[in-house]
Amino acid sequence: MEIYKYDTHVHTSEASGCASSTGAETALAYKEAGYDGIIITDHFFNGNSAVPRRLPWKKRIELFCKGYENAREQGEKIGLTVLFGWEFTSDANDFLTYGLDKEWLIAHPDIMDMQIWEYAQFVRRCGGFVVQAHPFRIRDYVKKLVLIPNDVDAVEAVNLGGNDIQNERARWYAESYDLPITGGSDTHNVAAAPKGGILTDMPINSISDYAEAVRGGRILKILDGKE
Ligand SMILES: [Zn+2]
Ligand SMILES: [Zn+2]
Repeated sequence: MEIYKYDTHVHTSEASGCASSTGAETALAYKEAGYDGIIITDHFFNGNSAVPRRLPWKKRIELFCKGYENAREQGEKIGLTVLFGWEFTSDANDFLTYGLDKEWLIAHPDIMDMQIWEYAQFVRRCGGFVVQAHPFRIRDYVKKLVLIPNDVDAVEAVNLGGNDIQNERARWYAESYDLPITGGSDTHNVAAAPKGGILTDMPINSISDYAEAVRGGRILKILDGKE
């Protein structure tokens, strides 16, 4: 059986204020580390964004997409699949959003004013896919936990920014609500070789492939970085 390796939660310095590798550097490092593809999920404007606030919405979205676009361009040269998503934040809780594009973001500045469950419902109505990222991460800046189990598609049960206990709690949460699980590294720089993500028994060439892998039990293993 053919096995494929993807990372579903990756940041770039073009768009994430806390990241320090460019999209191009990131794509190269993942290719060298043996991945078949990555999904770029930079912090949206309600998180640690590198995009200046004072610009018009369309300009901000264009800058926001640069990390992904640079990664994709590099990916096309070296044979690494690069897909688009983002990490949307509400009260310091994060929601990975997949399956919608730059044009959708340009058309919807109103997402900034929605309650988080309204946002998730809207994204899903528009054909997107929402994964609650690291739901039990412990950080000083997380003042409250936000769980919206009825309005997400899946839970990130393994995130390399958390420890085993936090990941175990995420798995428990997913099981409690019958939600499928996935995993991602939350890589912010590639100075060390990237780790984490998922192994699948099917190639992921689009976000609908990814959704099928998550919903259809096609994830063979969620990597915790200790392999
Ligand atoms: Zn970050
Ligand atoms: Zn992240």
